[in-house]
Amino acid sequence: MLNIVLATGNAHKAEEFGRMLAARRLPVTVQSAKEFGGMPAVPEDTGSFVGNARQKAAALRARVPASHWVMADDSGLECVALGGEPGVETANYAGPQAGDAANRAKLLAALVEEKGAARAARFVCHLLLLGPEGEEVHLLGECPGRIAERERGDGGFGYDPLFIPAGETRSFAELDAAAKDRLSHRGRAFAALAEWLAQRKLA
Ligand code: IMP
Repeated sequence: MLNIVLATGNAHKAEEFGRMLAARRLPVTVQSAKEFGGMPAVPEDTGSFVGNARQKAAALRARVPASHWVMADDSGLECVALGGEPGVETANYAGPQAGDAANRAKLLAALVEEKGAARAARFVCHLLLLGPEGEEVHLLGECPGRIAERERGDGGFGYDPLFIPAGETRSFAELDAAAKDRLSHRGRAFAALAEWLAQRKLA
């Protein structure tokens, strides 16, 4: 049994991990950063998903018992027509205090001239498990898709109303939770975590 503490202050991410765990029987217990005094603020200024995930995991490490593992998620959206932007700046695309609605409005404006295949994008998720001895396990998930021409649906969070995963006609915000978890970058990284846990059990 692995005891994992989630290094996130993002309630939506924590909720997604919670329901993905509930859907599978994994040999883990999961606690939130809240149970250990909350997620410390981190600058997320390393310029890479892996670097930012390391910052988050390291910030929480000292607050949790030595026997526990810390799991950080750094994720973002990469648009082909924007040369990979917003990328690591996804959370702060419209400015540090701007929030989700302003971020989505900025993205729609940036892509206003782009049609069809030029609206291709992908969501990426870098999960980092930091172990008691400083061990690092990296689990990556990616979800290809495209950016809708207008907001669609009211489920989910962040850029969900704008992202249509490949093979779908509905946005993440129009899909039910189980469908989003099956297709999403976080769901795929989580599947890689389940695979790693299965291998670890066999070893
Ligand atoms: P960070 O991982 O805390 O740096 O922030 C990730 C950024 O990507 C935030 O702006 C999120 O809203 C956005 N994001 C990450 N995952 C998702 C998702 O599943 N749906 C919508 N937006 C997401």
